Amino acid sequence: MNAVDVIIKKRDGHELSRQEIDFFVQGYTRGAIPDYQAAAWAMAVLWRGMTRQETVDLTLSMAQSGATMDLHDVAAVVVDKHSTGGVGDKTTIVVAPLVAACGLPVGKMSGRGLGFSGGTLDKLEAIPGYDTALSVDRFKAQLRQVGVVVSGQTVELAPADGKLYALRDVTGTVPSLPLIASSIMSKKIAAGADAIVLDVKVGRGAFMTTLEDATSLAQTMVDIGKGVGRRVSAVLSDMEQPLGRAVGNALEVVEALDTLRGRGPADLVEHCLVTAAEMLLLGGMAGDATSARRLLVEAIQSGRALDKFNEWIAAQGGSLAVLGDPPGLQAASIIREVSAPRSGVIGAIDAMAVGLAAVDLGAGRLQKGDTIDHAVGVVLQAKVGDEVRAGARLFAIHANSEAAFDRARARLLAAYSWSDRRGPERPLVYGVLR
Ligand code: URA
Repeated sequence: MNAVDVIIKKRDGHELSRQEIDFFVQGYTRGAIPDYQAAAWAMAVLWRGMTRQETVDLTLSMAQSGATMDLHDVAAVVVDKHSTGGVGDKTTIVVAPLVAACGLPVGKMSGRGLGFSGGTLDKLEAIPGYDTALSVDRFKAQLRQVGVVVSGQTVELAPADGKLYALRDVTGTVPSLPLIASSIMSKKIAAGADAIVLDVKVGRGAFMTTLEDATSLAQTMVDIGKGVGRRVSAVLSDMEQPLGRAVGNALEVVEALDTLRGRGPADLVEHCLVTAAEMLLLGGMAGDATSARRLLVEAIQSGRALDKFNEWIAAQGGSLAVLGDPPGLQAASIIREVSAPRSGVIGAIDAMAVGLAAVDLGAGRLQKGDTIDHAVGVVLQAKVGDEVRAGARLFAIHANSEAAFDRARARLLAAYSWSDRRGPERPLVYGVLR
């Protein structure tokens, strides 16, 4: 077997066998297959797709590229969640400590930004000292002691995904159902959680722009997870406009903190409650959605969720000194508001355009290994359905150069669509697959 034959077979639209997939995945993980061949293969998969069997084989091969954790010596049930990627999606930073504060251990392996979509690890690294590369032993010890841990892939856990993820980010090969499903589910399987809630985004700021594609991705992942004996459900949620108001790493940490302090933006709060309630249900901590929400609201109002957040961040080496009220995270040199060019109702805010503007400011990567500027980003002061007068505050840009500010301003103004009257509201959640 050789890598070129496997690439050609997929390029020509044929089904790969488990042996061929294993050969490619394990060869790439060891470094025997170079990036350029893996990039060609990923592009062939993106164009040709994969059968359900190939997607399952790819997922299992990636999960087995490193160690697989068994967390049952830590807790009887551990829950995990994962988003398919969106703009302004800081849900994990809220729900991980929130669910842990309700007594259900959360052990999560997260990813970095992908294309226009942000990544939890990049956001958490905006907190000085936060360690995203925990060993299996440290992961387990923290889960046992604190009840919450959010780490990235190491060479130990799903290393195939670690390498492929970084490669896909910069080769235009992210929006592929089998590549997304295998990337997410391989990490989830390797990380060992018994219950997994998938947050499958749909809309302009998601990799799946139609409900049909998002549902198909969700069903594929739910089936893969159940096939290996995990409890899995998928929340189909809207990503037509950014979630919450902040887009950019440090800015999103601040918004997540605000949410844990009980003053987050309404859409983010609701999304976090839906996701966290699903985690409690799947983890057996609540019998129905109403009692799950009651537990969650109480954890926020009592301050226990915030205490758990602080405990978690400190355990992973993060500095609590910058997470006070107000927080003192690194700030951009230019923070400037942009006002509405006209009066009217905001009809749409193109989430992908906002994500790309944030990447261009420095919040994401254009090349593998690019460093992230944690301070930059955007804060949307008006969102879809808001009625705004000409000259009122529309958004604030946090930039580190005048040129970057100017580019972001033009891009963001173009991302807004205006209308004279309020249209029908898009739902925040389209449904839950179990
Ligand atoms: N999140 C992942 O972990 N992988 C993807 O491919 C997309 C989102």
